[in-house]
Amino acid sequence: MEDIVALVRPEIYAMRPYTSARVEGDQSARICLDANENPYPPFPGGPEQEGLNRYPDPQPASLLGRFADIHRLPIEQIFLSRGADESIDLLVRGFCAAGRDAILITPPTFVMYETAAEIQGARVCRVPLNPGSFQLDVDAVLAACDADPGIKLVFVCSPNNPTSNVMERASVLRLAAELRGRAMVVVDELYVDYSGQPSLAREIAGQPNLVVVRSLSKEYSLAGERCGITLGHPELIGVLRRIMPPYPLTVTAIRAIGAAISPAGIAYGHRNIARIVAERDRVREALSQSPAVIEVFPSDANFLLLRTEDPRRLCAAMAEQGIKLRDRSSLIDGAVRVSIGTPSENDELLQAVKLYASSGPSPVPIRHRGMSSDT
Ligand SMILES: *Cc1c(COP(=O)(O)O)cnc(C)c1O
Repeated sequence: MEDIVALVRPEIYAMRPYTSARVEGDQSARICLDANENPYPPFPGGPEQEGLNRYPDPQPASLLGRFADIHRLPIEQIFLSRGADESIDLLVRGFCAAGRDAILITPPTFVMYETAAEIQGARVCRVPLNPGSFQLDVDAVLAACDADPGIKLVFVCSPNNPTSNVMERASVLRLAAELRGRAMVVVDELYVDYSGQPSLAREIAGQPNLVVVRSLSKEYSLAGERCGITLGHPELIGVLRRIMPPYPLTVTAIRAIGAAISPAGIAYGHRNIARIVAERDRVREALSQSPAVIEVFPSDANFLLLRTEDPRRLCAAMAEQGIKLRDRSSLIDGAVRVSIGTPSENDELLQAVKLYASSGPSPVPIRHRGMSSDT
């Protein structure tokens, strides 16, 4: 526990956290006149709007209990946020003093870590993944942390967005062990259920500086309701509860999350994950054979990262067919990220890529003609 306390911004312990009406006092009172809520239902007042005029429970016990079962951790080790994005933001705010502390990221990786650090005024230290394997360079990360004691959070994305591979478990555990008392190792496992590999959450008991971030967005079809799950040492969870917004989850989100993590909801989620994994392997196989594609990296997630000669042209051609891809060539040379859709959506993509591959090199844009030799 001291390992964590020493890393948290002292101001966070010094301040008195905000306590909302939903936390203070008897929550089962018959008449609630304590939160300045409007007693009437919102318009138009249908049954699905029941309770929308009341502030929600910030960390509903029923959801915590279910997540505790699912992740096999006590509820004191679980924190719910408005998406994983909010969890990342709160971690940075809780551990990094503006202008002094830093996070470490391993590019190419998810961009939000950096954005959250910039908003907080925290520095960003970058230690690239090994270029061939996209695996962690553990020695380089440790050397960077030795050189800069201001690094309080090391973000590891596994499976990594956008490279789609899982980081070697032993590497992450070695990082956590070596950095204990010096930095928290935050493992972003947004896609781990697509990898077929176990979560690192079970290692938290032996590694108190390990934090695992999960979400219902990518795996359980709830991106629109916003639900992130942070798993960590009770001390860490306590820090997040001190600084969380008063009501991270909306009333409708709490309902949707409850359904998604019921036993039937989890079974439904697992079936969809299996379907997406099967489609991922089929689409990867097909794209690998396309002359338009240089390579498709092996994927442990629900998306594929491919390399192509002219990523902008490929994305533009797909957009013309109404298919939106993500150009990631600013992060990796020639890279385009493709999410796995339904079988018919994937078929349309493959058809459009076929058409693209047979259409020859890009025509010279008119405005460039005769202007330079740079065609
Ligand atoms: C999508 C994504 C997130 C954000 O997830 P939300 O729960 O929807 O906020 C976080 N990390 C990674 C790696 C992602 O791809």
